[in-house]
Amino acid sequence: MRRGAQLYEGKAKVVFATPDPGLYVQLFKDDATAFNGLKKGTIAGKGSVNCRMSAALFGLLEGAGVRTHFVELLSDREMLIRAVRIVPLEVVIRNRVAGSLAKRVGRPEGEAIPRGPVIELYYKDDALGDPLLNRSHIEAFGIADTPTVDEIEGKARAVNGVLVPFFRSVGLDLVDYKLEFGRALEGGELLLADEISPDTCRLWDAASGERMDKDRFRRDLGGVEEAYQEVIGRVLGAAGSVAS
Ligand code: UDP
Repeated sequence: MRRGAQLYEGKAKVVFATPDPGLYVQLFKDDATAFNGLKKGTIAGKGSVNCRMSAALFGLLEGAGVRTHFVELLSDREMLIRAVRIVPLEVVIRNRVAGSLAKRVGRPEGEAIPRGPVIELYYKDDALGDPLLNRSHIEAFGIADTPTVDEIEGKARAVNGVLVPFFRSVGLDLVDYKLEFGRALEGGELLLADEISPDTCRLWDAASGERMDKDRFRRDLGGVEEAYQEVIGRVLGAAGSVAS
């Protein structure tokens, strides 16, 4: 599919039009940022890891009945996607205490969540620093309507029901992660969009507890590229055997 005009450039991805108005191309970059853009860097090979991992997981989820924007891989860092209008909510699903949740509820990182998962909705707005919202904020300001928020929560739980056991099968603990959803420009269906990658997930090695995700970059832990390569190796090994 021929790439047309650039429509959007974010911190980690670029979206292009195609000759088909219902389809876009999503290109994954090696650029890395953290803390709302305050920390910048490059993670060699990250674009390829994130693109191939997202493709594999979207394929797995489609197979389990969760509709996504993914159409096909075009190269190791480009995928063809259905054109969507993104709902401006970052949906964080938490299976274990980490990061900002540890501070919010005063519990140690790594603790299990008794009746999890916790689902949090953040306003996707860089200028505001992506603040946490509750449903009243979302509905009162028309950020999304009630049926859409209900549908997003239902789909987030369905995704979690697929991804937790999948990652467990490759020796990774899916601690928490962020999802985005969009409405297809053609047909209006709510689709899982964006990416699912070590940039957007906390993945801890189940045996050692070692962090295998972007926290290695955020917290200057070293071994960032190696961790991303280890994760993609495990995911593609298992996703390949699921697909066949
Ligand atoms: N996350 C993300 N993008 C964001 C914010 C969060 O992908 O803009 C992911 C992050 O990688 C983690 C989860 O969502 O897996 C929860 O992030 P949290 O807000 O706890 O991050 P912290 O504030 O601790 O950096």
